[in-house]
Amino acid sequence: MTALEAGAELGQKAFGIIIQPRIDEETSTPHAAMYDFRTDGITVFANGIEKAVEAGGDAFHVVRHAVAHELGHAREARYFAECGLFPYRLYIGSRCVIVAEGGRLSATGFSSLFDGLINTIQDFAIDKTLSQYGVKDQIARLDLKRTKDILNSLGSSSDKLERIRLRLQTVFNLPLDMSHYRFGDIAETDKKGIRELAEKFLGTKKWQEALDLISGRRFGDVEGYKRMVASYMHEFLGVTPIFRKRPRVEFGNLPNFWNNDVYETLFVE
Ligand SMILES: [Zn+2]
Repeated sequence: MTALEAGAELGQKAFGIIIQPRIDEETSTPHAAMYDFRTDGITVFANGIEKAVEAGGDAFHVVRHAVAHELGHAREARYFAECGLFPYRLYIGSRCVIVAEGGRLSATGFSSLFDGLINTIQDFAIDKTLSQYGVKDQIARLDLKRTKDILNSLGSSSDKLERIRLRLQTVFNLPLDMSHYRFGDIAETDKKGIRELAEKFLGTKKWQEALDLISGRRFGDVEGYKRMVASYMHEFLGVTPIFRKRPRVEFGNLPNFWNNDVYETLFVE
């Protein structure tokens, strides 16, 4: 059985969905694979797979995990559609600020990081489900470099603005890091490094709270997802998001299973 077939089989077992992945040999990206909500397609990136293998991964396991993981995103998209939530659009008001160490910063500058946050809260539930099938997160080791780099620059930089930037980066990456911490196919010392970094900015208590919060996330539970996104943003970024209905036509062309006229989307004002 090829790794792609093994990934499809695992994805079907864990999430009850089959989509034939496409392979991209050209694009240079650190991502091993990606789910495109616009086409309902899954792409496996040869370049990203190579990077994960260079970082110590086994090609078969990396590809199998990547395909199954993206099938999780495809399945969860259907749960979102059924429950009336469109999770891929975020509106950030120009007056919105996030509160960081000793200052208030415009949130619009962080919109791409917000997008990432919304996605990685999904990642946690997907990899939690896959771990129940004995499959560990293979992408964890790709992100370790970021954790180590931040820990290193913390030691060398006393610049206040730089510290705020690093803190925010850590907070935005936290759901992903907690996913790696729990389900990553990485050494215990690397998991400790992830925790150490988060504790540097949040303190031990907050790290544990964040971990307890996200550990309660259940795959496919859309109401739970909304509550989690809201409490996470409130707790760690000091913003209070709200969900508002918007007409589907605003989102452009979507696969057929998005068949409501209106969907809730996330507003941060
Ligand atoms: Zn993902």
